[in-house]
Amino acid sequence: MERLIIIGSGPAGLTAAIYAARANLAPLVFGGYQYGGQLMLTTEVENFPGFPNGILGPELMESFRAQAELFGAKIENVDVTKVDFTQRPFRVWAGEDVFEADTAIVATGASARWLGIPGEEHLRGRGVSTCATCDGAFFKEKHIVVVGGGDSAMEEALFLTRFASQVTVIHRRESLRASKIMADRAMGHPKIAFVWNTAVVAAKGEYHLHALTLENLVTHEISEFAADALFVAIGHDPNTAIFAGQLDLDEAGYIASPDGVHTNVPGVFVAGDVNDIRYKQAITAAGMGCKASLEAERYLEELDAERAAGGLVPAAL
Ligand code: NAP
Repeated sequence: MERLIIIGSGPAGLTAAIYAARANLAPLVFGGYQYGGQLMLTTEVENFPGFPNGILGPELMESFRAQAELFGAKIENVDVTKVDFTQRPFRVWAGEDVFEADTAIVATGASARWLGIPGEEHLRGRGVSTCATCDGAFFKEKHIVVVGGGDSAMEEALFLTRFASQVTVIHRRESLRASKIMADRAMGHPKIAFVWNTAVVAAKGEYHLHALTLENLVTHEISEFAADALFVAIGHDPNTAIFAGQLDLDEAGYIASPDGVHTNVPGVFVAGDVNDIRYKQAITAAGMGCKASLEAERYLEELDAERAAGGLVPAAL
């Protein structure tokens, strides 16, 4: 029986773990087989306060983890497969194993979105990817296409210039969503070209990607575009599949919360990108993890007081 189970090990989950561990709650963290969250898939992080020279994403997450473990968090690199928040204690499954806890923090983050076009799934790992830092080095002196117009797409495009002979960003509109600093950097880079108002509608190649089918969204003209790699950088979807029917979700599938901390189930709290459609920053996720942990501590204090007084659970929090 655990006091607190934390599901997720990105900046939100591990910040919650640091706070809870320092409060002597010895939280059990299910970090996932690919622990560390999305920063494990990135290179240089330049906007996390405290690192004026930047820090590599994986290095930052290793530090979060070391700090949580130092204070007594127990971190398991396994995926949670099922939860039952309908009765107390809450139950959490990791494969065949079931764990019980008084409180839970859901910090499962979000995953990269795919285009859903013909050829994309077949060519994943064979020229089609959502992770430039994982796969970019395979494409030295090649022509790489990046799809998307946000900060992620600009970051991927800029990173890929280290390897590629040419990077082409294909965007469905004629203006970027990316922040000005990232857009300026990408647009000013000699290796990066832009194709506007265009959708990638198919990925072609038998053993390896060799071309894309493009549709001009203004003229509807279809054309073929030679490319050795396609990096999809079109945003993320929240990782909430295991919480459907257990926690209220909003219309976009994120965990619903009136204040970004509480869920509809007292004793279950939320933190990070799984609740945050707007900011999605490591630092905002970390702040949310802190808040969720403080609320969990408060809930546990009330639970203990109720138990001491002979009740079972706090009335409502
Ligand atoms: P985003 O800001 O939501 O941008 C997604 C981009 O993909 C948009 O340009 C969107 O087009 C396009 N898109 C979405 N669905 C598409 C589809 N089916 N086909 C083609 N294009 C599609 O997502 P993000 O770039 O991943 O960024 C998410 C958040 O993380 C943002 O707050 C961002 O600032 C932050 N972030 C920051 C940094 C940094 O500061 N270095 C790096 C990465 C991410 P439309 O513009 O037409 O909607």
